[in-house]
Amino acid sequence: MNNKIWLSSPHMGGAEEKYVKEAFDTNWIAPLGPNVDGFEKDLEGYLGSDVHVAALSSGTAALHLALIILDVKADDEVICQSMTFAASANPIAYQGATPVFVDSEDRTWNMSPEYLEKAIVDRISKGKQPKAIIVVHLYGMPAEMDQIMAVADRYEIPVVEDAAEALGSTYKGRKLGTFGAMSILSFNGNKIITTSGGGALVSKNEEWIKKARFLATQARDNAPHYQHSHIGYNYRMSNICAGIGRGQMEVLQERVEARRSNYNFYKNELDASIFKFADEPTAEYFSNRWLTTVIVEHPERVIDREVIRLALEKENIETRPLWKPMHLQPVFEGAPFYGDGTSEQLFEKGLCLPSGSNLTFEEKNKVISNIHKVFAASIA
Ligand SMILES: *Cc1c(COP(=O)(O)O)cnc(C)c1O
Repeated sequence: MNNKIWLSSPHMGGAEEKYVKEAFDTNWIAPLGPNVDGFEKDLEGYLGSDVHVAALSSGTAALHLALIILDVKADDEVICQSMTFAASANPIAYQGATPVFVDSEDRTWNMSPEYLEKAIVDRISKGKQPKAIIVVHLYGMPAEMDQIMAVADRYEIPVVEDAAEALGSTYKGRKLGTFGAMSILSFNGNKIITTSGGGALVSKNEEWIKKARFLATQARDNAPHYQHSHIGYNYRMSNICAGIGRGQMEVLQERVEARRSNYNFYKNELDASIFKFADEPTAEYFSNRWLTTVIVEHPERVIDREVIRLALEKENIETRPLWKPMHLQPVFEGAPFYGDGTSEQLFEKGLCLPSGSNLTFEEKNKVISNIHKVFAASIA
């Protein structure tokens, strides 16, 4: 356990305990309190663009509330990037709606604007105007936001940005999480900063954020007794967790720098004829490099992603395949899909390398030397 090299483990900065202690000292041990307010302010200040933020129990909860606020109901259709973590798509099913999956393009690995438009045109021709578009910034890489927003605007469909992996990334100098009608963040234990578990909903529309806070606290009407005219949820962030978040915000910039330097390290050390890296397409894209990912393309195909993954696992080094696209998942079998197989190719060949901001130089060297060993063994 101790010597294991993890894909992405929590990395405390030091101030977290001070905020958590304050919560104890003042007895704010509840899903509200000064840390929750403070963490929301910190995020609003960091993201800029006049956004408002509701701190919630998870990124998944934030996405669920976003769809409720956009009035996604049973029998509606919601477009979602296929290549992503299941949490991007599950809230569509919570609402009884149908996900329509869209493939990735190969520059950013995120939603293809071309197939997005094809999907919209085809769904409309079948009689359904999609209710929302969920676009994801995988591994911190910004999606092609200009093109995606242009398509969404043309058909007047609101965009929900899943920025769970992308806090600290920017597109054309603007923070991810500020482009969508609504956006979500995650502070799960493996993300770039963590509150142990947690998430946030972000929007310029203050009414929506107020509504999210209302729905997240059991939708209690303003009355001395317990009065309800909406179905509510218990989705608010704990004041303890928010204390961790406030401490983490103080080191976010350092975390981005450390993760970006992991990427540069691996890129310098691995053979470019075999390992393809996901470079930022232009200077307009700035990735937080939440995870460093590579496409393994060995000419003779003797060594593939899986051979490397299993060899590293024996050495107690955790790596993972890229996200398996949602249109290939048994649970979403039969859902409409628009694409050309790009995400399937990425899934087949892609590997996520250990990427924590707390990795030591020795640990990263151990990863590299074990990858080199796999190739040396194949020649011998
Ligand atoms: C982590 C993650 C989520 C879910 O966030 P939780 O806080 O774990 O609920 C959603 N989408 C993506 C792309 C993620 O990586």
